[in-house]
Amino acid sequence: MQIAANAVAAFHYTLTDDQGKVVDSSEGREPLTYLHGTGQIVPGLEKQMEGRTVGDKFNADVSPEEGYGIHHDELIQEVPKEAFQGVEDIQPGMQFQGRGPQGEINVTVTKVEGNTIYIDGNHPLAGQTLHFAIEVTDVRAATAEELEHGHVHGTGGHHH
Ligand code: ZN
Repeated sequence: MQIAANAVAAFHYTLTDDQGKVVDSSEGREPLTYLHGTGQIVPGLEKQMEGRTVGDKFNADVSPEEGYGIHHDELIQEVPKEAFQGVEDIQPGMQFQGRGPQGEINVTVTKVEGNTIYIDGNHPLAGQTLHFAIEVTDVRAATAEELEHGHVHGTGGHHH
């Protein structure tokens, strides 16, 4: 069976950036399982999964536009420490939920200078071309219940 809309597919992946550095990998974990055609993986990869079958190994390059988005300078901000009420010790690398132009975003603290906190609401991989090495490990038809819920049940999915 080939990967198409309403298929449940599982795959192993290694994601490297333009510098060849591995930024994420399923190595040593269960393969990633998803319901094809529902936007659960980045659009550029989902497109290239289409038509693949079990055992297929391939490389997929994904542009920022079809990956984690382009880099927005306006998402880099300086905010006063008072904005982080209830947080004792703010350190670079900490992540918070914030409000962006399009709703909730995750922001990362990049620098702390006295009472000024520098935050970045860009996805850490925004603006980067993604290089995936993929191995498809399973393809099956989604059950009626999975289609109704819009997610995968069982191994690698929801248990409820
Ligand atoms: Zn469900």
